[in-house]
Amino acid sequence: MEGMTLSSDDSTLGPEQAAQLAARLDDVLARLDAAAEGTGRDSREITLLLATKTRRPAEIALAVQLLRERGRTVAVGENRAQEIAKHSDPLLADNEVPRHFIGRLQTNKARDVVAFAEMIHSVDREGIADALERRAEMAGLSREVLVQVNTSGEESKGGFAPTLEALAPIVERLRASDVLRPAGLMTIGANTTDAAAVRESLHLLRSLRDEVRERLGAEELVELSMGMSGDLEIAVEEGATIVRLGSAIFGARPA
Ligand SMILES: *Cc1c(COP(=O)(O)O)cnc(C)c1O
Repeated sequence: MEGMTLSSDDSTLGPEQAAQLAARLDDVLARLDAAAEGTGRDSREITLLLATKTRRPAEIALAVQLLRERGRTVAVGENRAQEIAKHSDPLLADNEVPRHFIGRLQTNKARDVVAFAEMIHSVDREGIADALERRAEMAGLSREVLVQVNTSGEESKGGFAPTLEALAPIVERLRASDVLRPAGLMTIGANTTDAAAVRESLHLLRSLRDEVRERLGAEELVELSMGMSGDLEIAVEEGATIVRLGSAIFGARPA
């Protein structure tokens, strides 16, 4: 998938594709609403972030439009620096949707990411905070950031260890910045069909946010970015403020 090229009919979406996207999107909203209702939450307060990797501008634009028509809070989240350019497409450039970056960060892409995203979910090591800060200062921009936490212990996943001791220094370092503002925590839940293990990892993120807030007096840490297509109900039940949705709305990604 890396480096895939987009086909030449990028700007069009057939009526059948559009209808399929709308049907998937309404299924997702029904799942979200049921989960929210079960825990007494208002699902309209949850930001639905469209994970846009590999998707064409026409698909993204339609999903944004449909979510807005349905009164939802929407953002787009790119996770590939090399796909940032597609968000300048005329179909997307002026839609005023908050843009986030959710992917693994490389220091040599920090400038592009800072220019693109008002919230960066994936601060997974000290060095990347330094690079983002430098680029934000140079560009005269301020950016919200989330600290990524490895709540599952899976080695393939980035992020800080899920302990107060590991999180306190990076949170304090971000709070001391004039241009970066820590807004919460992000995780990618355990990659398993074992719902109990998924719940454990998402519950851990919430506990950590509460603990960091309390112990550091960091009231500004409100966001919990967690939950994807497969685990959105658990995420909503565990307090997610931002769920990141790809395949459930756009269909399976091309392999
Ligand atoms: C792709 C992606 C998602 C969405 O994944 P789906 O399972 O397709 O919903 C969420 N978060 C991140 C960081 C991603 O890269």
